[in-house]
Amino acid sequence: MNIILLGPPGAGKGTQASSLVARRGMVQLSTGDMLRAAVKAETPVGLQAKAVMASGALVSDPIVSALIGERLDQGDTGSGVIFDGFPRTAAQAEALDLLLAERGQQLDHVIELTVDEAVLTERIVGRYTCAQCGEGYHDRFKQPAVAGVCDVCGSTSFKRRPDDTAETIATRMSIYRGETAPILPFYVARGLVAQVDGMADIEQVTAAIGAVLDG
Ligand code: ADP
Ligand code: ADP
Ligand code: ZN
Repeated sequence: MNIILLGPPGAGKGTQASSLVARRGMVQLSTGDMLRAAVKAETPVGLQAKAVMASGALVSDPIVSALIGERLDQGDTGSGVIFDGFPRTAAQAEALDLLLAERGQQLDHVIELTVDEAVLTERIVGRYTCAQCGEGYHDRFKQPAVAGVCDVCGSTSFKRRPDDTAETIATRMSIYRGETAPILPFYVARGLVAQVDGMADIEQVTAAIGAVLDG
């Protein structure tokens, strides 16, 4: 089963992907995570992407599509993939169809996480992750059970993304509206889209996504 999680920055894509990984053994393919790893490792792609990401703009379609293609060839994605943050443009959506077709695969669901824009800024500025295992947290909405200790791995070091600032959020939102949301009709026409209320509590969103996948 291959699915896309689609929604604006802060909608909960990463949070829901990590619970699908834990509960269903699916593999999360987050182009944001791949690009951040490339920036950290100072690869050619990372050197090119760093400033673009910091500004909230999109990295070029060929770069991200190539990252996805390489990742699909690693041989561990047969039992299902969650595309998180990809595709983000019409060109990427077309590239994904081709990448899957070339590998004899297809898309099963596109889950659209719907959220009121008003809450996204608060979600994004309060977001942080475990520096060791990457588990996602929030200052208000998802605190570790023991303050300052990661629930998953016990690490006490956490980090925040340099692009999670009030300044980039407006840019990222307008790119979502202008470039990413317009790919939805393309999937609606193929009968693939299920809308899930991303304003609900994290566990309720997880349950609603589960119902779509099991339906
Ligand atoms: P995305 O990957 O779509 O950008 P994240 O999954 O990183 O979004 O979520 C953004 C922030 O909001 C995180 O700190 C996360 O803990 C929190 N969050 C995610 N889903 C919910 C929810 N349903 N209700 C409240 N907070 C949430
Ligand atoms: P968010 O959690 O806010 O949705 P991501 O972690 O998915 O953000 O992406 C962070 C940044 O990485 C984006 O603002 C963009 O610069 C870059 N990026 C991630 N995925 C893509 C993509 N599919 N196409 C172009 N740029 C991307
Ligand atoms: Zn951890």
